Amino acid sequence: MSDLEPLDLYDVRGLLSESEQLVQETVARFVQREALPIIDACFATERFPTELVPRLAELGLFGATLTEHGGAGLNYTSYGLICQELEAGDSALRSCVSVQSSLAMGCIAACGTPEQREQLLPPMVAGKKLGCFALTETHGGSDPARMRTRAERSGRDWVLNGAKMWITNGTLADIAVVWAVADGNIGAFLVERGTPGFESRLVKDKLSLRASSTAELIFTDVRVPSSARLPGAQGLKAALRCLDDARFGIVWGAVGAARASLASVLVYAQSRELFGQPLAGKQLIQVRLAEAARRITAAQLLAWRLGQLKDRGEAATAQISLAKWNNVRMALDIARDCRDMLGAAGITLDHCPMRHALNLESVITYEGTESVHQLIVGRELTGESAF
Ligand SMILES: Cc1cc2nc3c(=O)[nH]c(=O)nc-3n(C[C@H](O)[C@H](O)[C@H](O)COP(=O)(O)OP(=O)(O)OC[C@H]3O[C@@H](n4cnc5c(N)ncnc54)[C@H](O)[C@@H]3O)c2cc1C
Repeated sequence: MSDLEPLDLYDVRGLLSESEQLVQETVARFVQREALPIIDACFATERFPTELVPRLAELGLFGATLTEHGGAGLNYTSYGLICQELEAGDSALRSCVSVQSSLAMGCIAACGTPEQREQLLPPMVAGKKLGCFALTETHGGSDPARMRTRAERSGRDWVLNGAKMWITNGTLADIAVVWAVADGNIGAFLVERGTPGFESRLVKDKLSLRASSTAELIFTDVRVPSSARLPGAQGLKAALRCLDDARFGIVWGAVGAARASLASVLVYAQSRELFGQPLAGKQLIQVRLAEAARRITAAQLLAWRLGQLKDRGEAATAQISLAKWNNVRMALDIARDCRDMLGAAGITLDHCPMRHALNLESVITYEGTESVHQLIVGRELTGESAF
């Protein structure tokens, strides 16, 4: 036997710079010491661990790629590694950071005025304000152009009416980036918690992402000043640009969930004895473990290469889609198979694969379903849109 690292067979870690390795180690240690001890209980009771928000901020994980407004100014590969290590803990942690960083802060940074950026980004970096990104409506998440939420002018103000569904951080957020049709075009508005007519309702009894806040947001004659409009958010393209950044994080996060699932089975298979031998010595089990390692390795290399492209400002939407599709499918298949290799023990919270598999059922759906990403790649290959 050589001394290869079982969870990093191609030494992808060796491709990282020293500072990227440091980011990875720091977040992995935080997850190990502070998130894992509480995450099962959060999942069981459908509670987002808000007590971790100040620590996430202290570690510089909110808006980590921002070079101004207090952001850590890290590169995208580092952001990917943050997502990977958080999701090795639980997809809920990564989801909270993705939405805060890529969707809410990313949208304000890219589409906001200097005043909006100055007012909101520093407290969001510091975790003093949480954000959400409200695009999806009940009648068609894959086709957001059908949105019915409207913003109408009333004097110098805008008045919003409509409802959004499945919004991550929805009940926690101090500030919502809300997409609505305004003057015949899709635009985005900043709506603060507590604004009269704005209500958020927690989606309960989820079987997936149970440690995440998912909410319905309702807007009834919600009046906001003209300064609440994000001037750069013109049309759906602006929303899709923010989604590309968040999907980039998911590409890495999925690797973390798969890696954690495989790690738990590797330990179990050594100690579980069946038919006079450890499970790890059975050929069929070895094929399944090797298959998981093969797919994780390919996903790690894909994420790393995408990070290189993103850091050069060259990552194309179809490349991000291919990687989101590949890596989340890989993680979901591996988490399910690891659950099976644990036998009955795998259905409890004593082992992580089933929790990861349940979470990944959401991850494969949000930020573009698997089919939507396949269609984006198909369009890239053929030049034909088949949506
Ligand atoms: C836990 C969770 C958190 C979320 N967080 C957020 C959030 O923070 N903000 C936000 O705005 N949204 C959020 N979403 C919503 C998410 O983005 C949508 O659920 C997703 O885009 C899919 O939309 P839908 O659920 O309406 O499914 P639909 O769009 O109705 O899709 C149903 C099925 O049809 C398939 N399909 C769609 N189009 C085509 C086509 N052209 N051809 C063939 N098949 C097709 C899909 O792949 C899917 O299998 C979240 C969802 C979940 C589950």
